[in-house]
Amino acid sequence: MIEELIKKLNKQEVQLVAVSKTRSNEQIMELYDQGQRHFGENRVPELVNKYDTLPKDIKWHLIGHLQTNKVKPIAGFVDLIHSVDSLKLLKEINKQAKKNERAINVLLQMHIAEEEAKYGLQESDLEAIFDAIKSQDLQNIKVCGLMGMATYSDNNQKIAQEFSILKGLFDRLKGTDPLDKDFKIVSMGMSGDYEIAIQEGSNMVRIGSLLFA
Ligand SMILES: *Cc1c(COP(=O)(O)O)cnc(C)c1O
Repeated sequence: MIEELIKKLNKQEVQLVAVSKTRSNEQIMELYDQGQRHFGENRVPELVNKYDTLPKDIKWHLIGHLQTNKVKPIAGFVDLIHSVDSLKLLKEINKQAKKNERAINVLLQMHIAEEEAKYGLQESDLEAIFDAIKSQDLQNIKVCGLMGMATYSDNNQKIAQEFSILKGLFDRLKGTDPLDKDFKIVSMGMSGDYEIAIQEGSNMVRIGSLLFA
């Protein structure tokens, strides 16, 4: 089942992030043994514990809301942080990356859903973030793209519309200052809506329950 899904996604040039939150190391190793290397977690202590105990060639994604005081433990190894939702957080990631003498890849999480509960930036927040990147010493972050979560709904049209807004924003931003060739990821789509997300232009999906069912 996972092999078929990976094959299908590869054909569409979509990166699969296997969302392994709450899953055991044994469950993760089952997917690892089938070739899966990108895994996503939403809690820092769990992510650190899994990093410490699992093979070092796993690429770890932090996909959930991240508090500034939780950046430090993951700064040395995290592959991609999907959930940058404030300038304050971006600055802290830069600071911790610098201490580790590396660059950290990040996505800007955009609020595209109807639900207020979901985290994310508004388009109007971006200017201040881009100004900071242009004018400040944020040399240790790489803005690699956008992430978004659609409204939890069975209205596929609504979900498609929300994803299409995110992809539209990505297309408009791509190639504009201060974004460069690193800006290439659109992380959207989970177990329930990844097919719609891919139709709307996603190139990275975060899938949990479907893989570990
Ligand atoms: C849990 C989670 C997912 C995966 O959700 P599934 O419905 O299990 O596929 C994707 N993205 C984020 C941000 C999550 O927290």
